[in-house]
Amino acid sequence: QDLVIAIDGPSASGKGTVAQLVAERLGFAYLDSGALYRLTALAALQQGVAWTDEVAVAQVATELDVAFVGERILLASADVALAIRAEEIGSGASQVAALPMVRAALLQRQREFLTAQGLVADGRDMGSVVFPSAKLKVFLSASAQVRAERRYKQLIGRGEEADLALITADLQSRDDRDRQRAVAPLAQSADAFLLETSNMNVETAVAQILDWWQL
Ligand code: C5P
Repeated sequence: QDLVIAIDGPSASGKGTVAQLVAERLGFAYLDSGALYRLTALAALQQGVAWTDEVAVAQVATELDVAFVGERILLASADVALAIRAEEIGSGASQVAALPMVRAALLQRQREFLTAQGLVADGRDMGSVVFPSAKLKVFLSASAQVRAERRYKQLIGRGEEADLALITADLQSRDDRDRQRAVAPLAQSADAFLLETSNMNVETAVAQILDWWQL
């Protein structure tokens, strides 16, 4: 895992944008691990499997027929890149992500993203569970208010309806669930660099991570 950069942090902290840019600059592959949890929640919904049925959802996760093709995310050949970003699926993802069997089912799939070209992995437990020996670990955070505003702008930008109070409450409940779950709770590892981005733009955050990488 000498060529792995693990970037963890709470929802809407800007991890995705920053991680993708770092991957581009270094010519590394990119793993959006949250997408796998979102895909599992969506596939379960499509198959009529309840998000609380651990055994059945783990089976769905094991059998996920998914392909990441550029910007497209194909689930059984249908492009669901947009569908998995829906707030409802985000909430479902955080529910299925609390189930130990589901996390176990997705572990190997995540590790397979690592190839000889290097990998930037973005999620909640990249540095703690999936790539514990990652060469560089970053914990990216931002205040709850800033994260809610970022998510709000993102939704408005996509032409969706958005309500700042609702978004704030939803982020809060998702973060609580991610931090309090028994397996792989969201937390900064002792060996991760903290990047507080409340007052930082994307370019500065990317530059900081590239600096740490070159240390
Ligand atoms: O990052 P994103 O918001 O797409 O992730 C959706 C949900 O998946 C998160 O709220 C979290 O509960 C879960 N997740 C996780 N571990 C990861 C990535 C995502 O538990 N490595």
